[in-house]
Amino acid sequence: MHLDKTMREICPMVQCTGCSACYNACRHQAINMTENELGHVYPQIDEDKCVGCNLCQMSCPVVNKPLLRYPNFCFAVALLKDEDLKFSASGGASTALMRAVINENGIVYGCTGEDVFHVHHIRVDSLQDIERLRGSKYVQSEIGLIYKSVLADLNSDKTVLFTGTPCQVAGLKSFLRKDYPKLITSDLVCHGVPSQKMLTENIHYYTSESDGKNIKVSFRRKKCGSGVNTKLNSGRIEFGWFLRNQPYPDVNRKFYDDSYMFGFLQCLTFRDSCYTCRYATSARCSDITLADFWGLGDDANYEKGKGVSLCLINTERGQSLFDKVRDKVNAQERDVVEAIIGNGQLQKPSDKNNAHALFRCLYPKLGLKVAIEKSLKKEKFKLIVIQPLKQNIKRIIGWK
Ligand SMILES: Cc1cc2nc3c(=O)[nH]c(=O)nc-3n(C[C@H](O)[C@H](O)[C@H](O)COP(=O)(O)OP(=O)(O)OC[C@H]3O[C@@H](n4cnc5c(N)ncnc54)[C@H](O)[C@@H]3O)c2cc1C
Ligand code: SF4
Ligand code: SF4
Ligand code: SF4
Repeated sequence: MHLDKTMREICPMVQCTGCSACYNACRHQAINMTENELGHVYPQIDEDKCVGCNLCQMSCPVVNKPLLRYPNFCFAVALLKDEDLKFSASGGASTALMRAVINENGIVYGCTGEDVFHVHHIRVDSLQDIERLRGSKYVQSEIGLIYKSVLADLNSDKTVLFTGTPCQVAGLKSFLRKDYPKLITSDLVCHGVPSQKMLTENIHYYTSESDGKNIKVSFRRKKCGSGVNTKLNSGRIEFGWFLRNQPYPDVNRKFYDDSYMFGFLQCLTFRDSCYTCRYATSARCSDITLADFWGLGDDANYEKGKGVSLCLINTERGQSLFDKVRDKVNAQERDVVEAIIGNGQLQKPSDKNNAHALFRCLYPKLGLKVAIEKSLKKEKFKLIVIQPLKQNIKRIIGWK
């Protein structure tokens, strides 16, 4: 079947993850990834350039569903030194795996946030450059034409580790359309993604700085002493999900005081595909799945505030990479079931916030901050008034 030139959809738009596999596959530059009114990117076909070859549909993971596998093993992982650990999102399992691949002359692909106005995937071939990939950026990373670069490396017989959200891993595999023995994939357990447009707009509420490289954004904060996550560098701003009741940097800011993070954590600002995400399940599309190890039992003996990664080993290829780092990190084997019970996104996709339709209407007209404030008024009231009130009542009557 050939793609009808007048057919605008490669897959149903509501399921399109923006993975860019179609964009990479088209040999006629007939596809552009364009933003919708929320800033989420979707492929748009230029019908004048399209020859109807159907390669885009053949590369789309929504049309050609990837194989999902239930994990074979589960580990808790943390890097050994606090000084190192503080630069990673959770326990630094991803960093350990990326270093192992580079140490054997392999290539790593991952997401960099060094320009906060353009969070995107890059190719890395040195240990030094691994640092550019560390930390979670809670926004959809732009893939660009990076799958083509992965293919070129695989065709040059290089070992490649690709890291990303599950839909990006699925997009890469679907683009490649066959297995390459030297490709290793590592996906993240994923809550959902806001758009770059939203992140950029949010940062502009804090600063008029136009060069995204001069701005340091920290999406989360850890208890690893001072470092990138806790220090406010002069001329730079940080925002994100800060620990409650901790001064930051000179105000007592709660996570709900930042529109972007509030919208993210309340599942308001994700792209449509995230609410029905087929990768939000215990069966995985990659060789190794990484996440925060929520629900890790106290017997595991980690300082959880410093970050502990969940590491699910889904294939033999994943196992052989993990074996190379196992002795270099604090790794403890755990039950896969413990991980699934502790992590909602290993069970089902995020629930769409009830105010999503309202937000969708308001954002294009009123901008991010006002749209989120108006959409999440009730949630904020609950957090600021109802919850503390309930806690105080419990304390007074001795239930707590
Ligand atoms: C959008 C998003 C949503 C997430 N939701 C959850 C969740 O609901 N529950 C949960 O347990 N964990 C979630 N995570 C995963 C978690 O935040 C950590 O990324 C994970 O624990 C790995 O941490 P680490 O210390 O091993 O990674 P680090 O050593 O800090 O390395 C960071 C790794 O993450 C990759 N990465 C960073 N940002 C992005 C991005 N925007 N897109 C693609 N890849 C990226 C980098 O390429 C790198 O491989 C999410 C991550 C992202 C990016
Ligand atoms: S049908 Fe072929 S030419 Fe047309 S957009 Fe798809 S890949 Fe490109
Ligand atoms: S390949 Fe990816 S970006 Fe293209 S239509 Fe399919 S899901 Fe959307
Ligand atoms: S929730 Fe699913 S569709 Fe959304 S970014 Fe994550 S993996 Fe992709």
